[in-house]
Amino acid sequence: MIPSEIIKQKRNGGEISHTQIKDFIYDYLSGEIPEYQMSALLMAIFFKGMTDSEISALVDVMLNSGERMDFAHHNNYVADKHSTGGVGDKVSIILGPLLAAAGIAIPMLSGRSLGHTGGTLDKLETIPGFKVEIDLDGFRKQVDSIGIAMIGQTKEICPADRRMYALRDVTGTVESIPLICGSIMSKKIAEGIQGLVLDVKTGNGAFMKNIDDARKLGNTLKMIGKSFNINTDVVYTSMDQPLGNTTGLWCEVQESIEGLKGNGPNDTMQVTFELGAKLVVQAGLSKTHSEAIALQEQLITNGKAYKKFIEMVEYQGGNSRDIDNYSDLHQPRYTNELKAEKSGYVQSMDTYKIGLATIELGCGRKKTTDIVDPTAGIQFDNKIGDKVNKGDILLKFFNSDSKKLFATEALLKESFQIGNKKIEHILILD
Ligand code: URA
Repeated sequence: MIPSEIIKQKRNGGEISHTQIKDFIYDYLSGEIPEYQMSALLMAIFFKGMTDSEISALVDVMLNSGERMDFAHHNNYVADKHSTGGVGDKVSIILGPLLAAAGIAIPMLSGRSLGHTGGTLDKLETIPGFKVEIDLDGFRKQVDSIGIAMIGQTKEICPADRRMYALRDVTGTVESIPLICGSIMSKKIAEGIQGLVLDVKTGNGAFMKNIDDARKLGNTLKMIGKSFNINTDVVYTSMDQPLGNTTGLWCEVQESIEGLKGNGPNDTMQVTFELGAKLVVQAGLSKTHSEAIALQEQLITNGKAYKKFIEMVEYQGGNSRDIDNYSDLHQPRYTNELKAEKSGYVQSMDTYKIGLATIELGCGRKKTTDIVDPTAGIQFDNKIGDKVNKGDILLKFFNSDSKKLFATEALLKESFQIGNKKIEHILILD
């Protein structure tokens, strides 16, 4: 196999075979193919796309680059949720423990920040002591013992995704249907799950900017789920503004804790319950969507979802005291505000720019070796449809690096549009 020939074949729009994909990825993992050749292949896939059979081969190779979990021994329904990537999307941190409290086993493999979007792992790692690198045996034991584990791709599970995900993040090759499908579905199938719900984001802060592309992605994800015998539901949600009132690292964990205690922002909880309802119904725990919503609300109100979160935090090395007293931790050294330059209604938010600003503040990586700043983030005082007066605070942004804080200001200034019309933001799309 000559790597440059495969790159050229894809670059010219040709189809590459299962064997070629396998040889290329395996040689990349063994170090025989360097990062620059994998980057070139990713870019060729980005521009030329892949056929359904190439996508299925990609998923299969990525999946079999590591081990596969098996939860056939588990009495409970085994399922997971995944998002295609958003800004302020902390749903997994709330929904994982919530579903585990409902009696669904959740072996969740999550990702780090990708492109302008945040990563669940980076957020969870701000919990002091919380470990996301757990070996397969430990992962299995934890799911068997407490019904949930939230970890990253280890050396054993989907090593191909671990390497390619980090490379895509820094080579401009994220927004690609085949690469997103390969990344998400290899991880999810490796978990040994029976059911899956996918939050396919669309809008100016999503990888799929319009609903047609989002549906293409959703349909391809469903096609792969079906071919691996996984009950797969898709929910399309808006990323035309950040989800919740914060984007960042520790601030999003704080918001998730409040969500688990029943004080979460409406939009975040609405998306959480909508996704959760799909799995609750799949698992046969409720017959209807509305019963599934009521069941989840009850698990928040009676404290069981929060208790499950604490159990998971402690199992993975964290301490419940830090969660109970979260405001004492990760205080940012610097804070600034963005104020409305005129009165009116917030018409739109440039969620992509807000995502970039969040990365710039220190929540993501420009190089794979960058270290994130747990104190960094943005808090929104106003969102689409809100009435503001000139001088009102639109948002506060904070971190512990004054140079980065300064560099973010211009990006954020361009991210709000204020006008005379009251706009209604539609969160969940049919
Ligand atoms: N989430 C993933 O795990 N991978 C992607 O490529 C996008 C979102």
